[in-house]
Amino acid sequence: MKIFNTLSKTKEEFEPREAGKVSMYVCGPTVYNLIHIGNARPMVVFDTVRRYMEYKGYQVNYVTNFTDVDDKIIKKAKEEGVESSVIAERYIEECRKDMKALNVKPATVHPKATEEIGGMLDMIHTLIEKGHAYAAPDGTVYFKTRSFKEYGKLSHKNLDDLQGGNRSLLVSGEDQKEDPLDFVLWKPKKEGEPYWESPWCKGRPGWHIECSVMSKKYLGDEIDIHAGGEDLIFPHHENEIAQSEAANDKVFAKYWMHNAFLNIDNRKMSKSDGNFFTVRDIGEKYDLQVLRFFILSAHYRSPLNFSADLMKAAENGYDRIVTSVANLNYLLQTNESDAPDSSETQMTQQETAAAEEAKRFVVKFEEAMEDDFNTADAISAIFELVKFTNTNVTEQSSKAFIKTLKDEILMLSDLCGLIVEKEAEILDDEVEALILERQEARKEKNFARADEIRGLLLEQGIILEDTREGVKWKRA
Ligand code: AMP
Ligand code: ZN
Repeated sequence: MKIFNTLSKTKEEFEPREAGKVSMYVCGPTVYNLIHIGNARPMVVFDTVRRYMEYKGYQVNYVTNFTDVDDKIIKKAKEEGVESSVIAERYIEECRKDMKALNVKPATVHPKATEEIGGMLDMIHTLIEKGHAYAAPDGTVYFKTRSFKEYGKLSHKNLDDLQGGNRSLLVSGEDQKEDPLDFVLWKPKKEGEPYWESPWCKGRPGWHIECSVMSKKYLGDEIDIHAGGEDLIFPHHENEIAQSEAANDKVFAKYWMHNAFLNIDNRKMSKSDGNFFTVRDIGEKYDLQVLRFFILSAHYRSPLNFSADLMKAAENGYDRIVTSVANLNYLLQTNESDAPDSSETQMTQQETAAAEEAKRFVVKFEEAMEDDFNTADAISAIFELVKFTNTNVTEQSSKAFIKTLKDEILMLSDLCGLIVEKEAEILDDEVEALILERQEARKEKNFARADEIRGLLLEQGIILEDTREGVKWKRA
C-alpha cells in the first residue's frame, strides 16, 4: 500500500510501526457553526482510508478531535449571550448528525480540547523545562521556534525565508516575543472569556498544543498517520511537530496525509460573498450519500470543484449502483416462493466462470486504493462491476450467482462508505390496507394480529395513533 507522505513529498510504501496496527489522528473541526462541505472532505476521505485499512486486517485506532475553545466560538457565544460551552456542545451534536448522514464511522475517541487542559499544561511545562518555551511577563507562553532544529521539515520552508518573507509572523504585535517566529502555547484570558488556572496566568491554550496533547494521550508519543486538510500543513501541523518532537524526543507521525481543498464554482468557499454551503444545505437537496460519492469521485490530493452539474453527475453515478442492487434484490425476491431446487441455489458452470471473472474488479479496486487511495479509480472499478453484473444477470440466473455479484458490489461500496442497498419504502396504499386489516382484527378481538400489524408498520418507520377521529399515522 502506497501513501503520499507530505514529509517526503513522495509516495512511500506503508509500513505501520507495529505489525497489524494503525494509529491515526485527524484534525477535526472548530465547532462554532454547522460544518460546511469543505469540512466534510477530510472526514469522508480519512474515514475511507480507515475503512480500507480495516479491510486489510489492520486494527485501526482512529482519533479525531473537536476544537471547542477558540476565538470564533467565544465571539458567537457573546453574540448569543450564552457560555461558549453552549455553542460548542450544540455544534458538536450537529456535527455528529452530519457525520452519521455521511456514513462516517464514529472515531475510536473524539476528544474535546476543553477536557484535555491538564495534559496541555503538562506538555507546556516540559517544553519550558527543556528550554523550548518561555513565559513572557504577562504570562503568555511561547514556543521558541528556532530551538527546534527541524522546524519547516513538513512544509518544506526555511526558517530564514519565513522570517524575511512571511509578514503575518511579524505583525502579530506580540512585542514580548523573543523572536517573531515564536508561537503561542498559552495565552492570558480577556474579559468575559473562558479560562483555566495555570502556573503562568489565568488563560487558555493556543490552538496547536491541543492536537499534540490529544494525540499523545490517546495514541502515544509516536503514531502512524496524522492527517487533515492542506491548509493545516503550515503552521498548524508544522507547529504540532515542533511541540511533540521537542517534548517527547520521538518522531511524532510517520506519514502525513493532506487533502486538497473543495471549492465552489472554482472559487474559494467564503461565507461573506455567499459562496458557501453547509452539509445541511446540501442534505436538503440531495441524499448525503451523493455528497459522499461526489467527494470520493476525485483523488483526495486533487482540488475538487463543487457545482450543480457535477453534483447531478454524482447523483447519476450513485443511482446507477443503487438501481443495479435494487434490480438484483427484485430478482432474488421474485423467485423466493419457488421451491429451492438445485438450479436456483447452485451456479451453472458458466455462472461459476463469470463469478470468477468478476473477481478482477475487486483486484482493480484494491490496486486503485493501494495507490495512495485513488478513490476515483476505485469507483470506476465498482462501475465496471455494475456493468458486468447488469449484462450477465438475467431472470434465469441462479440465486447463488445473483447473490455473489450483489455481495461483491455491496462490499466494494461499503469500503467507500456508500450505502447502496436501500430499504424498500412502504407505499401509502399498503399502509392504509394494513391499518384496515388491523381494525378488522380488533373488531374480531384478534389482538395478537392487531399488535403484529402495529409492529410491522413500526419496523417500516410508520407510527400509528388511535384518536377519537380514528387511526392516524405518520412516518417517523
Ligand atoms: P476547521 O474547522 O477550519 O479547523 O477545519 C476542519 C477541517 O476541514 C480541517 O482538516 C481543514 O483543513 C478542513 N477544511 C476546511 N475547509 C476546507 C475546504 N474548503 N476543503 C477541504 N478541506 C477543508
Ligand atoms: Zn490539529
